[in-house]
Order: sequence, then structure tokens, then C-alpha cells
Amino acid sequence: MTSLAVLAYLVAAVCFIMALRGLSSPVTSRQGNLFGMAGMAIAVATTLILVPQVRNYWLIVPAIAIGGGIGYVVAQRIQMTALPQLVAAFHSLVGLAAVCVAAAAFLDPAAYNIGTPGAIHVGSLIEMALGAAIGAITFTGSLVAFAKLQGLVTGKPLVFPLQHPLNAGLGLLILLLIVWMCAGQSGAAFLLLILVALALGFLLILPIGGADMPVVVSMLNSYSGWAAAGIGFTLQNNLLIVTGALVGSSGAILSYIMCKGMNRSIINVILGGFGGEAASAAAGPAGDRAVKQGSAEDAAFVMKNARSVIIVPGYGMAVAQAQHALREMSDLLKKEGVDVRYAIHPVAGRMPGHMNVLLAEANVPYDEVFELEEINRDFAQADVAFVIGANDVTNPAAKSDPASPIYGMPILDVENAKTVLFVKRSMASGYAGVENELFFRDNTLMLFGDAKKMCEDVAKSLA
Ligand code: NDP
Repeated sequence: MTSLAVLAYLVAAVCFIMALRGLSSPVTSRQGNLFGMAGMAIAVATTLILVPQVRNYWLIVPAIAIGGGIGYVVAQRIQMTALPQLVAAFHSLVGLAAVCVAAAAFLDPAAYNIGTPGAIHVGSLIEMALGAAIGAITFTGSLVAFAKLQGLVTGKPLVFPLQHPLNAGLGLLILLLIVWMCAGQSGAAFLLLILVALALGFLLILPIGGADMPVVVSMLNSYSGWAAAGIGFTLQNNLLIVTGALVGSSGAILSYIMCKGMNRSIINVILGGFGGEAASAAAGPAGDRAVKQGSAEDAAFVMKNARSVIIVPGYGMAVAQAQHALREMSDLLKKEGVDVRYAIHPVAGRMPGHMNVLLAEANVPYDEVFELEEINRDFAQADVAFVIGANDVTNPAAKSDPASPIYGMPILDVENAKTVLFVKRSMASGYAGVENELFFRDNTLMLFGDAKKMCEDVAKSLA
């Protein structure tokens, strides 16, 4: 590789690091995105123009055109609420790419400068085996995550007897197959390795319950990074190794943050599959229990007369795309002299940072947006908690019911506010399938309806 290519790769790597740094805060996230795009443009251009092994333009250019075209159409059409499953689908493609590259290198090692068939360097065999195994686990694991997030399979944990010993056995088998493959250069071992890893990815994610999906998404993000780093070793491409390692380690850090947000240990999530029965039992019908129901006018009256209102957005705000109407409503409240702040739970919505992105899109000032630990104590002094399309992240079962699948997860203590307004369309439970006791409390007023329409109606009453 020419020194110009090495330099360009270095610049691209620095851009990716700047991208991650920028994405760590909503204030700098746009800039972070620009760095990421610039880094990727430099990386692709350098690989196409300056890397001598890249010659098959007649294959590469149509492939980029087809892939880029599909990506463009998908990006134009995708709903914000469907982004998590799209990300899961993309992770599966990274995993599949890792398997394909490893297979190509195994079948034609000379093309990769790693030996000849039957005489591949052991170091390369190890890289290939690890890349293929992690890639295969990422591929099927991400497909299952996609199906769960898309609602194609149930979000409840799917458990079966001897599940953990079986997974542990498959993990051990993968290690043995790697040894066999490296010692004997065996094609059969390589094929078996891929098949067992595919099965393990499927079995690892299937039992994980809905409430733990945030950790799964970030974990698969991390796996896809390590799979890409594996491809980088096989292709002897330093930038891919660096980029893969950046994605892998940032995904691991994100998994840690999500685990902290859910008060779970990572082992606890990976072993998963608990609490499903409790979830379905707890999610039973609300029956005839009475709730207090209010209108937009009632909500406007209560909030206009409040000193302080804390808004708690959740997945329903994203579904209704209510963020702009919500900001207009809060602007009117501020004009009335009400102190308005936003409380964000780390797993609110369906992807990390989901609520921050939506509020930023609606130009909500960053200094009004607070993380759980910064604001949770303030609910006790707040006159109103305005919960818009959030459910699980406010559910006190997380504190009081050890059988609940969300037990142990820190929640936003909206119940401590003088009045709690819940905007949602029905009495349905949230993603974890657990009924929320708060709906029946004396200080709760249910505002049934679409979140956007409700905010618009409240704003009309305030104006
Ligand atoms: P929930 O899924 O718990 O609740 C959302 C609520 O929004 C529902 O109860 C629903 O009630 C209501 N809703 C839906 N559409 C509308 C609408 N158009 N207008 C008004 N209300 C609406 O969301 P939370 O944000 O509270 O919690 C997130 C959950 O998702 C957690 O369990 C978390 O573990 C999980 N999760 C999070 C991920 C992440 O990375 N953040 C990833 C994957 C899962 P109704 O139908 O009655 O309107």
C-alpha cells in the first residue's frame, strides 16, 4: 500500500474517532455525523483508487450502485420508530459479510496472500475462524432481534429446558472446531464451525425478553464491530481493523451503559429468558378497575396553574411524531410562567438516545433536557408529570414486584409529582408487557388519544 493510502486511512480513522466523540452529546451529534460521513468517503475513495489489490471495478461499481440505491430508498422511507429493527438488519449484513470474506479467504488463500489451499498460515486461519464465528453469531442473532423488534416473533422470553447447558455446549464446540480447523486446515471443520455459530446466534437471542432488548441491540452492535475487525485482519486492511475495533468497543461501552440503565448485569441479560410468565400474568386485562379520565382542556387547566411541569417522553411520542406539537405546547406553558423540563430515561423509546434525537429535532433547548439521575428527585417537588407515550420507564413494578421482568430497572418516579397526566391511546401495557399500577392511582389522570393530537389540543386550550 502506498504511503499516501496509509496517510488517507489515518485521516479517515481520526474522522471516525471524532464522529464517536461528536455523537456522545446531542449538542455535537450533527457535527459527529459529518465527521463520520467524511471519514467513510475518504476510506471508500482511498480503497478504490489507492489500494492496488482492488481492481475488479466491473464488479465493485455495480455492487456499490445496487447497495447504495437500496440504502438510499430504505433511508428515505424508514419511519423513525422502525430504526432499531433497521439497525438490527444492518448488523446482520455485517455478520454475513464477515462469514463470506472468511469463506472466500479459506477457498482462495493465494488471492489474500495468506498461503495456498491446505497450507494457509495458522495466524490467518485463527483470524478467519474467529471472524467467521463472530460473524455467524451476529448474523442469526441480529435476524432474531430484527424479528422481535418488528413484532414478527413475540417479545416474550422463549425459554426451553437445558437452554443454558446447550448454549455453553455449543460455545465449547465452536472452540474445538476452531482448533480442528487450524490444526487440520479442514473444510468440514470450517463448515461445521459456521453452522454451529449460526445456531448459537439464534439460540442466544431467542430467549431474551422484550425489556432486555436495548442491551441486545447494543451488544449486537458491538459483535458486528468485532466481526468487521475480523474481516480487516483477513483482508489485511488496517482501517477496517481500526474501524471494527471502534464500533466493537463503543458498542461494548453502550451495552454497559444500557445494563446500568436497566440495573442488569451483562451475564444476566445474555443468560436471559426469565420473567416471561410473570410478564404475561402481570399484563392481564385491566378488568373493570376504574381510572380517572380527563380531556385536553383538563390537562391545559392543570398545567397552566402549575409552577413546575416535568415532561416524560416515551416510545408513543415517537410513534405519534408528537415532538414538534409537544414543544409548541411547552412554549405556551413557558409563556404562562411555568417551569418546564424534560426527563429522559436511558431506555425510553426503542433505541439508545431515541428521545434525545426527537427532542433535538424539535429544537427543544438542551438545557431543559435531563437524564434520569439528574432529575428523578425533582418529581417530588413537581406539580405535574406529563407522561407522553411512556409506560415501562415509569412503572413502579420495577421497584416492588420481584417477579416482574422489569424488576430492578431504575424508573422515573413520576408518581411523586402532585398530578400525573398519562397520554396514551388505551390501557395497553408497554413493551415489557407489564400492567402499570400508576394508571389507577388517585393522583393520575389518563388522557386517552394520540400523543400528537393531544398536544395540539392542549396547545389550543392554552392559546
Ligand atoms: P413503552 O413501550 O413501555 O410504552 C409506550 C406506550 O406508548 C404504550 O403503552 C402505548 O400505549 C403508547 N403509545 C403508542 N403509540 C402511541 C400514540 N400514537 N400516541 C400515544 N401513545 C402511544 O415505552 P417506554 O418508552 O416507556 O419504554 C421503552 C421500552 O422499550 C422498555 O421496556 C425498554 O426496555 C424497551 N426497549 C428499549 C430500547 C432502547 O434502546 N431504548 C430497545 C428495545 C426495547 P397505547 O397503545 O395505549 O397508546
